[in-house]
Amino acid sequence: MEYFSPTSVEDAVSILHKYGERSRLIAGGTDLMVDMRFKDQPDCLVNINRLSNLSFIKPDEDCLRIGALTTIRELEANHLIKTRFRVLWNAAHQFASLQIRNAATIGGNIARASPAGETLAPLLTLEAKARFVTADGEQLLPLERFFLGPGRTALGAGGLLTGIEVPYPDDGARGVYLKHAVRGPMDIVVVGVATTITFDGRSAVNEARIGLAAVGPTPMRARGSEQLLQGKHLDLPLIEEAARGAAEEAKPISDHRASAEYRRWIVESLTRRALTQAWQNV
Ligand SMILES: Cc1cc2nc3c(=O)[nH]c(=O)nc-3n(C[C@H](O)[C@H](O)[C@H](O)COP(=O)(O)OP(=O)(O)OC[C@H]3O[C@@H](n4cnc5c(N)ncnc54)[C@H](O)[C@@H]3O)c2cc1C
Repeated sequence: MEYFSPTSVEDAVSILHKYGERSRLIAGGTDLMVDMRFKDQPDCLVNINRLSNLSFIKPDEDCLRIGALTTIRELEANHLIKTRFRVLWNAAHQFASLQIRNAATIGGNIARASPAGETLAPLLTLEAKARFVTADGEQLLPLERFFLGPGRTALGAGGLLTGIEVPYPDDGARGVYLKHAVRGPMDIVVVGVATTITFDGRSAVNEARIGLAAVGPTPMRARGSEQLLQGKHLDLPLIEEAARGAAEEAKPISDHRASAEYRRWIVESLTRRALTQAWQNV
């Protein structure tokens, strides 16, 4: 196997372009090392850890920029993320163990494109965009269009994700991420539900965004339930209806972790809890 440790994004992308499908990029290695042990060995490994300019959390005027090499622990420890991007902080806080959080990067979580990836549903509710470079140049794409299927993204075989851009939620936005996993944080999510809700001055819903994890080929938004809540005053019957709607919109499969029916039931339950927590601001 050939090994490269480039010091520029351009060099990394040209190596990936040269080796195509036979190359793999490695960041924290928490997914890739497992894949290399149990699935396939690439012909070429491109370590991007010397691209230190990809490790940042930078508040700009219009959005928060997060570099691909930022670790999950760095997200968790960041005050701005904890206070303004609570839904993302919730996900970082519930992510595996401290050891994994110290190594795992947000770029790896996104590029891996697992429907169960912890940060993905929260980022969908924040309407984040992915910035990436391929041999054809640089692109900025809403995350919802970036994910193409399980493990498949707009990066293709030779793309490098450089970071994400996350618009600031409105003042007073309430973000909640809840995960159901059989063995707690160390286990893969059976179902995850993220909500980001803004209210107008009179407590009617200005905008509701609901993201679902592990119930479809990609993380997804429950658009029907979002529309149902739009402009209305939240109460328990409305929350119940939205939770049932989200369960209907989910597209789960049955696998060794859970049946599709069980996953729908968990979507309903977590959506109900997430909306209630956002409503009561707890
Ligand atoms: C014990 C354990 C517990 C875990 N728990 C969780 C959990 O609770 N929640 C969760 O979501 N995940 C979990 N994971 C999975 C993993 O930790 C995350 O997906 C992590 O964010 C991957 O990041 P990484 O930097 O380690 O990626 P890597 O393993 O280095 O890479 C992952 C994939 O992304 C590609 N890649 C990495 N960075 C880039 C980039 N910048 N541009 C393009 N492609 C890139 C790699 O080529 C590879 O295909 C767990 C893993 C382990 C081993």
